[in-house]
Amino acid sequence: MARDFRFSADADVYRGRLAPTPSGLLHAGHARTFWIAWHRSRQFKGSLIFRNEDLDPLRCKANLAKTALEDMRWLDLSWEEGPDIGGPHAPYDQSARTKFYQSSLKRLAETGLLFPCARSRKELNAYRELNGQNIGEPIYPEEWRPRRQSFQFETPEVGVVWRFRVPSGRVVTFVDQCLGEMSFVAGEDFGDFVVWRRDGVPAYELAVVVDDIEMGITEVVRGEDLLLSTARQILLYEALGCYPPEFFHCPLLRDGDGNKLSKSLDSISITDHRASGADPAAWAKDFTRVYNSL
Ligand code: GLU
Repeated sequence: MARDFRFSADADVYRGRLAPTPSGLLHAGHARTFWIAWHRSRQFKGSLIFRNEDLDPLRCKANLAKTALEDMRWLDLSWEEGPDIGGPHAPYDQSARTKFYQSSLKRLAETGLLFPCARSRKELNAYRELNGQNIGEPIYPEEWRPRRQSFQFETPEVGVVWRFRVPSGRVVTFVDQCLGEMSFVAGEDFGDFVVWRRDGVPAYELAVVVDDIEMGITEVVRGEDLLLSTARQILLYEALGCYPPEFFHCPLLRDGDGNKLSKSLDSISITDHRASGADPAAWAKDFTRVYNSL
């Protein structure tokens, strides 16, 4: 497939990132995606940022964040900024960056693009059934989407979910650097998504956009399981008045039965491979072959 790579080989503006979530041990699928992110940052003579996406206090563990760094070093990846080496955009742990997320949340709420939501899952399911909507998060009926005049926004409170008011029928299109042109329809593929969770934690969709903007990321390399998130995130970039970066979604690594590898399914971790004497150079060779075939 002929692709139009925006970054020329001698450009020095490329800024990529590795953004693991330390909620489990990383597996070979993560290794491949992160290797590709690293490789592209080198291919385009740019820099790479390591960001520890440890926002969820119940699922994320400090020892897993440390292991993720060790796994990446074992793979012989290097980065220019990160939690272990610092850099101009520190801190590189999301759990220490709440002030950035709060100010973007406030900005979005003040422009009327968010609404507080206290609907229960039961109410939501009943609504979906009644309206034949079978997406996880529908576009809410207008009476469930209070307008800004009817609520005060100070700081996000625990117990209230903040959702993004998605424009119904809006087609979100982007040219993926790996997969070509992608198109998603708001209200069909996704609905009013959460930007701030009920437990007071910023949602992934908001945090990742705020960080990628603040850290000057020019290309996001990640697994194709996040394509729908990309469509949602493009709406957030627009709402925050910023151009989105380029995206490169990597095909997922699957097991012999065609299932994608998963942290929760006990896929063999990089750490286990390391302990059993695997050769990182052989992995790199295999990843190079895969990357060249994309
Ligand atoms: N932290 C996310 C994950 O591990 C990836 C985020 C991203 O690449 O945008 O699934």
